[in-house]
Amino acid sequence: MVFRYNDIEVKTMKDKCKKYEGLFIFGDEKEFLSHIADCEDCTAEHEKMKRVSELIQEVAPQLKKKRRMVSQLKLACASFVLIFCVSTLGIINLNTDIRDTLLYGQTLSVEDYGFPVDSYGLIMVN
Ligand SMILES: [Zn+2]
Repeated sequence: MVFRYNDIEVKTMKDKCKKYEGLFIFGDEKEFLSHIADCEDCTAEHEKMKRVSELIQEVAPQLKKKRRMVSQLKLACASFVLIFCVSTLGIINLNTDIRDTLLYGQTLSVEDYGFPVDSYGLIMVN
């Protein structure tokens, strides 16, 4: 439906050509290009699509770079947590004084383990 408003031809949504999408997806290139050459609506649509395509190509490298940086950051965080946990647990496991303090509230001496000791705290051997 076409009507005029202040001498400007106004087209309603119904009048807009809807072949663009169909030809773009299903039509062959020759048919598609010949229709675009004839149809005003599809020419406008084609220009819009070209601009969008250019914009995507312009932005794509930046998006890829950003995604790569995010994954590197995740990897760095995971590595840090892993190294921190492993080294902390390693230190606690290997250092008996820290483990005794955590488990019993004090460091254990040889005497606490039930071994016979002399006045210097050394194990007595017969
Ligand atoms: Zn058209």
